[in-house]
Amino acid sequence: VEGITSREKPHDTRFYDLTNQQFERLLVVEYAGQKMYGGRNRNIWKCQCSCGQITYVQTQHLTSKRIRSCGCLAKDELSARRKTHGKSKTSIFSIYNNMIKRCLDIKDGGHPSYGGRGIKVCERWLESFENFYEDMGDRPSNEYSIDRVNNNGNYSKENCRWATKTEQNNNTRQNVLIEYNGEIKTASQWSKVTNIPVEKILYRYKKKWDLDKVFDPRNQRW
Ligand SMILES: [Zn+2]
Repeated sequence: VEGITSREKPHDTRFYDLTNQQFERLLVVEYAGQKMYGGRNRNIWKCQCSCGQITYVQTQHLTSKRIRSCGCLAKDELSARRKTHGKSKTSIFSIYNNMIKRCLDIKDGGHPSYGGRGIKVCERWLESFENFYEDMGDRPSNEYSIDRVNNNGNYSKENCRWATKTEQNNNTRQNVLIEYNGEIKTASQWSKVTNIPVEKILYRYKKKWDLDKVFDPRNQRW
């Protein structure tokens, strides 16, 4: 190494020999001497990186973990991030395309349940995939797909989230439309109005109870 002033180990009591210690990818091989950095003498160590490279690092950079490899670690981390990002972006891109198809393309098999029902994709998301991605972010995992919180609402930042199938089925069930007293509300909206748990409402409704009984707050029975 250039600029080494002394190769002898200091006899200072504060000097700590790092030989054979491992700092993430770096194994300290031997003391390399002292070198001036910022007006001070620093102890320099010859290190072997797990990738095979030899590199020289000062004590503080090792102990503070500021330097943990020959430089290969940062490179690997960057490419790993690119890879996962690229991959997730691809799958989100197909989710994005499918969403648009079932809302806009009459020939799409899903169209009757979406576009045909008046479900729209908001202007901002129609404008670009980037807008959509910015609003929704990455999927927590592959089990998640896009879910409209209000099943009768549109695809927009306000009405969408990543949700698992189970969460979505629950949501769809709670969005069953029930007409009662001339008003149409979802089961969960009726639950809010009547203070009857949504599960109770759904159960009674499915059993084809008389609607007055379904929504009777005094009725304790399922
Ligand atoms: Zn390395």
